[in-house]
Amino acid sequence: MANKNHRAPLSDTQLRVKALESVLLEKGLVDQATMDAIIDNYENKVGPHNGARLVARAWTDPEFKAQLLKDGSGTIAKLGLAGIEGTHIEVKENTADVHNMVVCTLCSCYPWTILGLPPTWYKSTPYRARAVRDPRGILKEFGVEMSEDVEVRVWDSNAELRYLVLPMRPEGSENLTEDELAALVTRDSMIGTSVVDAIN
Ligand code: FE
Repeated sequence: MANKNHRAPLSDTQLRVKALESVLLEKGLVDQATMDAIIDNYENKVGPHNGARLVARAWTDPEFKAQLLKDGSGTIAKLGLAGIEGTHIEVKENTADVHNMVVCTLCSCYPWTILGLPPTWYKSTPYRARAVRDPRGILKEFGVEMSEDVEVRVWDSNAELRYLVLPMRPEGSENLTEDELAALVTRDSMIGTSVVDAIN
C-alpha cells in the first residue's frame, strides 16, 4: 500500500499483510472487490480531513456545534461518518478554561472514520501511561505550554466510547471561510495533544 509509488523493499509487516491478503483471496474468504473497497476506504475516505470539516463547521455554525456537543454520535452518523470504529463518539470542547486530551490507556481505541488510523505515538506505551499521569508534560513535548489556569482533562477511550476534541478557534481566523478553517485543523489538535495556532 505505502509502497505503491516507490520501490523500497517491503517491510516485514507489509510482507505479512501481502501473504495474508493472498491466502484470504485464494481460499475465497474475501473477494478482490471487497478487498479493494476496504483499501480504498482507508487510503482515501477515512482520515482527519473528516474531523477537520466537523470542527470548521462547529466553529461557524452555532446550532451545529450545539448538536455535535450534545449528540456526537448521532450528528456524525447523519453526515455518513459513523462506519467502523466511528459509532459512540463524544465531542469535548476546548475553552479558555478547559483543555481536553484523549488517550486509550488499554490499547488504541480511536475514532477512525473522522481521524483516520491512529498515529504510532498514540498506540505507544509511554503516551498511554503518561497521558493520564502527566498530561502537561506530554503537551510540553508536543510543543504546547498550557497555562496553569487551564484545567487539563484527559479522556480515556474504550471500545464503547471514543472522543473527538473540538479545538478552540484560533485568533485571527474571523474572516476565513469554512474550507479555509478546515485546512487549519490538525489531527493532533483533535486528539488534544496540540492546539490550532493563531493566525498572524
Ligand atoms: Fe483501545
